Amino acid sequence: MTGPGSPDVVVVGAGIIGLSIAWQAAAAGIHVTVVDPDRGRGSSWAAAGMLAPVAEAHFGEEALAALNVAAVRAWPGYAARLEVASGMPVHFRADGTLLVAGDPSDRAATDRVLAFHQAIGLEAVRLSSSSCRRAEPLLAPGISGGVDLPDDHQVDNRSTVLALISACEAAGVMFLSDVVTRVAVTAGRVRGVDLATGGRHTAGAVVVAAGSWSERIEGLPGSARPPVRPVRGVTVRLQAGDGVPRLQRTVRALVHGRTCYLVPRNDGGLVLGATMEERGFDLSVPLGGLADLFEDARKVVPALGEYSVVETTPGLRPGSPDNGPIVGRTGVPGLLVATGHFRNGVLLAPLTADEVVAMLVAGPQGGDPRSGPFSAFRPDRFMPGAERSGPERSGPVRTGTPG
Ligand SMILES: Cc1cc2nc3c(=O)[nH]c(=O)nc-3n(C[C@H](O)[C@H](O)[C@H](O)COP(=O)(O)OP(=O)(O)OC[C@H]3O[C@@H](n4cnc5c(N)ncnc54)[C@H](O)[C@@H]3O)c2cc1C
Repeated sequence: MTGPGSPDVVVVGAGIIGLSIAWQAAAAGIHVTVVDPDRGRGSSWAAAGMLAPVAEAHFGEEALAALNVAAVRAWPGYAARLEVASGMPVHFRADGTLLVAGDPSDRAATDRVLAFHQAIGLEAVRLSSSSCRRAEPLLAPGISGGVDLPDDHQVDNRSTVLALISACEAAGVMFLSDVVTRVAVTAGRVRGVDLATGGRHTAGAVVVAAGSWSERIEGLPGSARPPVRPVRGVTVRLQAGDGVPRLQRTVRALVHGRTCYLVPRNDGGLVLGATMEERGFDLSVPLGGLADLFEDARKVVPALGEYSVVETTPGLRPGSPDNGPIVGRTGVPGLLVATGHFRNGVLLAPLTADEVVAMLVAGPQGGDPRSGPFSAFRPDRFMPGAERSGPERSGPVRTGTPG
């Protein structure tokens, strides 16, 4: 497609990141086309929807923690705007999270998490076992206490994805059910994308937001190829039947050093997660990881045994070398990337969209803001010889639970 009516921007990928960008870009008056063969059904569909700046903060990831804190503050306004634009509920809940310890050695680990959070100025309060059980009566009597994380919230990620699609349509975004086979770059500038069904879709700007697949798209020059890898996770959707007691708020747990979380939905549904494995693009669901999850979760919330299993959902978290997102311009004018959101893509979607849309509005000559929430998460931090302005690169100590 060429000439008048050609889209100004093509977004590759309709996960929560691509959809958020498309909606906000269209709202800013930009003509947007989104290409995806299966919109909304990637990692964003598998996620649990935790908005967890605190529980997802790890030792050695202070820059990411600061970004996450900024992101959770954006969510109440974002959820309200999205509900108005789409006419659909997204079920944002600001009722905090309990991090609980299964045994005394887990308690030592939750205390370290507490100390880290307090050191970087995040709110976290140590709770005794009985205080935990007062806050959440379904917790097992044997737990060894925990931490109240009042700033960790949740949203129904699937409702959000569906609302985003609706808001995009209302704002005039065009959807193509197709696969981008190549990003077209000629004479050092992006020209559009080539499609599996044939033909080229021309565009003045292309945003690669294809999650774990972003690195695989042909045509991206080495300098613009985001180093993402798939990290498989499986969530389990459970449902409480009539008369079955319901969890009141999100619970994360450490159980003999292993992690799990339980995220209750308003309708009696509950998301149990998550496994974390590096198996390439394999979306199978191994029994072993699920068995561990069920065992650990029932130790913390015994009533879980009365819930019904509705669905097991594998997804591929787009992981980056330093666990931080990769957002911004590349060395190719008009070509931007927004990927690598790993465990925090739902949380970071609103801020990512703000950042990318500001760049689209400014145009190719706009330059990258070198301050602001994403300044440590630019694509060029992975360029050979790049100055190390980004976040910490070497193995942060894992203390939280994988989202
Ligand atoms: C088990 C699990 C639990 C999680 N829990 C949380 C959580 O509680 N909170 C949180 O914040 N984050 C969570 N995450 C992480 C979050 O899901 C991701 O960071 C986020 O969904 C990434 O969004 P995305 O749009 O980049 O990718 P995706 O949602 O994977 O979307 C990428 C899209 O690109 C499309 N695509 C790929 N290649 C092409 C191509 N060539 N052409 C066109 N389209 C293409 C795909 O079809 C797909 O729809 C979780 C992830 C998993 C797996």
